[in-house]
Amino acid sequence: MTKLTGQCLCGDVKYTSDGDVLMQGNCHCTDCRQSGGAAFATLVFVTRDTLNVSGEIKTFDHVVDSGNTLTKHFCPKCGSQLFTANQARPDSIGIRAGTINEQGEVKPQFNVFVGSKMDCTLIDSNIPGFEGMPTG
Ligand SMILES: [Zn+2]
Ligand SMILES: [Zn+2]
Repeated sequence: MTKLTGQCLCGDVKYTSDGDVLMQGNCHCTDCRQSGGAAFATLVFVTRDTLNVSGEIKTFDHVVDSGNTLTKHFCPKCGSQLFTANQARPDSIGIRAGTINEQGEVKPQFNVFVGSKMDCTLIDSNIPGFEGMPTG
């Protein structure tokens, strides 16, 4: 079990997760870049029912190339994006790693959508990288 805690910029939204980290990685897709305002998103996925959130959250749904609907969860006051969920995987949710207090637990295992990365982003060749989203 990995205890994770975090909050948005203004602190109105706080969360804890005390389950296992399912996987974690960096996503360089355009959606992640635009929604978070950063060059890429580092996402730490946990089982949805291990995530406890306090404070008001707003959500934004968008359809991605695979046809799945993704939902971004953000603080309506400060705009920090905290979570991303995929309709196709209802049991898990991704935490935006920049909001996590326990930095030592953030260890990306892969890069996805490297084909969409910003030119300035350096890719760690010590972990697997995928041009898009690996299937299967
Ligand atoms: Zn906030
Ligand atoms: Zn992405």
